Formats: sequence, C-alpha cells, structure tokens
Amino acid sequence: MPSVLLIEDDVRIRQSLARALASRGHDVDSLATGMEGLEYVIANAPDAVILDLGLPDLDGVEILKLIRAVSQVPVIVATARDEEAEIVKVLDAGADDYVVKPFSGEQIDARLRAVLRRTDQGGAGASVAVGDLVIDGRAREVTLAGQSLELTRKEFDLLAYLADHVGDVVSKRELLAEVWRQPYGGGDKTVDVHLSWLRKKLGETAAEARYLHTVRGVGVKLVIPD
Ligand code: CA
Repeated sequence: MPSVLLIEDDVRIRQSLARALASRGHDVDSLATGMEGLEYVIANAPDAVILDLGLPDLDGVEILKLIRAVSQVPVIVATARDEEAEIVKVLDAGADDYVVKPFSGEQIDARLRAVLRRTDQGGAGASVAVGDLVIDGRAREVTLAGQSLELTRKEFDLLAYLADHVGDVVSKRELLAEVWRQPYGGGDKTVDVHLSWLRKKLGETAAEARYLHTVRGVGVKLVIPD
C-alpha cells in the first residue's frame, strides 16, 4: 500500500481528503504545518506527498524547496490559484504535478497513481550511455567522460528523457508534457532556458553542438557525437 503524506492546514479539507485517499487504498498520514511535514518526510520517507501551498508557518514553495533538498519523493502541490506563473514556479521548485482547488478525491488519486507509476519506472531505470555521457537513472547521477556533472532536478529529468529517446527529435511540446507535466504547452521558454543550462554543463553551445542538437522548428535531439 503506497504511503502518502498530506500536508494541509484546513482541517475539513484534510479530513475529507485523507478519508477519500484511504478509501482508494492509500496509507495516509496528515499534518497541518510545513515544518512538521518536512520532519515527517525525513523520518518516514513516504512514497508521495500532497502539499498545500497556503500553510500557516512557511510558504508552500519554501517547504517544497526544503523537501527537495533532502528527498526525491514525488510531490503534488495543491494550489488555490490557477495562474500559469504560480504553476511554473512550483514545477521549477521541484513539484512533480499540481492540482487546483477545489479538486475531488478521484482527481488527486489519479494524479497520485501517475506519479507513483513514474517513480517506479525511475527506480528501475538502469544506466544509459550516450557516447561518453552516462546517465544513471537510479542514482540520478550523470558523468561526462568520467567527470560527474552537477545537474538540477529538471536538467536531469530533461537529459534522462532525451537519453531514453536518443537519436530521435523530441518536440518542446512533448518535453513540456513529459518533463514539466504541462500537457497544454505555453512554456517553450522554460525548455529553452533549461536546454541552454544543460548545454553549458555539457561544455557545448547551440552553434557548436556535440550532444544536444536543436532541429529548428521541430525540437531537440540527443546524439552520440562524431
Ligand atoms: Ca491552506
């Protein structure tokens, strides 16, 4: 039974959501503050976290960053604001998905099952080698010619996704849907910015690409350099 931590200060939402998730086969614990939630994640390593953004002690985004500093646990953010800027901010801070309030037990259960499925796959992820580049899905480590690269979470996810599709052109829309969980697009710039950071870390430029090749108007592909 997957263990889920629910961090939500509104007692009515907390109780009804905990009941709805328990009835759908999750082992749910719930807490009302961000700091208690953080301590729980460190002590109990739950399989997934549902995090309310509006908490009494610390802003949800700050809690999310603190969780990310210590854990790769999937986090679904529950936000009251359906604003693209807000959503981009939480996804950039390391959320795996988000739901906009009000949402049903059924909806959050579907999102939970999706993130749990993805982490199962990630957990089984073997190493992929692309030329001198080695991407270790289990340890979430990347080396280039034996040298370890310091990648952010999203840079890693982006590179791992491209490595799973090595040699194929992947569209920015697909990357937004699969890496950023934004199936409706609208954030091409987010992809471009992360690609440029990734290029820098790989020691190349768009003009003199080795691994990461942009195919104008189509997308990007990862290749084994000549
Ligand atoms: Ca709240």
